[in-house]
Amino acid sequence: MIQGLSGIDIALWDIKGKHFGVPVHQLLGGAARNEVAAYATGLYRRKSGDPLTYLPEEAAGYAAEGFRAVKLKVGFGIDEDAAATRAVRDAIGPDVALMVDANHAYDAVAAIRLGRLIERHDIAWFEEPVPPEDIAGYRAVRSALTIPIAGGECEFTRFGFRDLFAAHALDIAQPDTCAAGGLSECKKIADMSEAFGIRYNPHVWGTGIAIAASLQLLAVLPSHTPTSLAPLAPMLEFDRTEHPIRQAILKQPIEHATGMVRVPNGPGLGIDVDRGALARFAADQCGH
Ligand SMILES: [Mg+2]
Repeated sequence: MIQGLSGIDIALWDIKGKHFGVPVHQLLGGAARNEVAAYATGLYRRKSGDPLTYLPEEAAGYAAEGFRAVKLKVGFGIDEDAAATRAVRDAIGPDVALMVDANHAYDAVAAIRLGRLIERHDIAWFEEPVPPEDIAGYRAVRSALTIPIAGGECEFTRFGFRDLFAAHALDIAQPDTCAAGGLSECKKIADMSEAFGIRYNPHVWGTGIAIAASLQLLAVLPSHTPTSLAPLAPMLEFDRTEHPIRQAILKQPIEHATGMVRVPNGPGLGIDVDRGALARFAADQCGH
C-alpha cells in the first residue's frame, strides 16, 4: 500500500512542478548540486561461469567507464564472498570505492565473520547484512566491524525509519523513494537522518521514473560532511543489469558520463514518459 501511495505522491510532485514550470528539486527547497556521482550496481552471480573470473572482469569494466564506486552482491557463502570481494578489489584498484550487499543473507554471527574477512579490502559499506527485522543483529554487526553498515530498502515511512534511527542500527539509510512513501515522506526521513548523524543514500531500482525521482531528492540532500572542505556527497545507485523497461519508457534516457549523472532540470521530474513504450510494456488486464 505504501508503495502504491509512493507512486501517486511522486506523480503529484511531477504535476505540481509542471504546473509551476520548475523542477521538483526547486519545490523541495533548491538544489545543492546539479550532478550526482553514480555507483554501479551489478556484479550479480550468473547461471554459469566462474565468479572469480567474470566478477572482476565486470568490475574492471565499470571502472573503465569512469564509475568511482561499484557494489558487489554477496551472500553466497562466507569463503566464496571473501574470495569474490578480494578479486573485485584487485580488479578495480585502491581508488574505486567498493560496497558489498548481502540482501539479508546472513545472521549476525555470519555477517560479522564475513565482515572481518573483508574489512582489509577497504569496504565503503556493508548493505543489509542481516534480515531487516533483526534490529539487534544490525546493532551487533555495526558494533563489531569498522565497515559502515547500510540498510533500509525494506523499510517504509518516517515511523519505520524513526525506530531504525533511534536504535542506532545503521550508518547509512537507504530508503527507496518509490517504496518508502514517495518524495514527501523521503524528504522527512532525510531530514530525520541528518539529525541522527546517519548518512542518506537512496536505494534506486526499477524504471527511469524512479531514477528521475531519486535524482530530484539527491539534488537537495545535504552533504554527509557539510563542514568539510571536500564534502562527501550522497550517491545515485545506478543499476547496470539488463532491464528492457528502465530507459525505454523515457523519451530521453538518463545516462551517466564518466560516472556522473546530471539532475534533470526540466519542469516536474524533468522527464517525458514515452507513452508508446508504456503501452507496449503494459500488462494486459483483460486476459486477451
Ligand atoms: Mg540492496
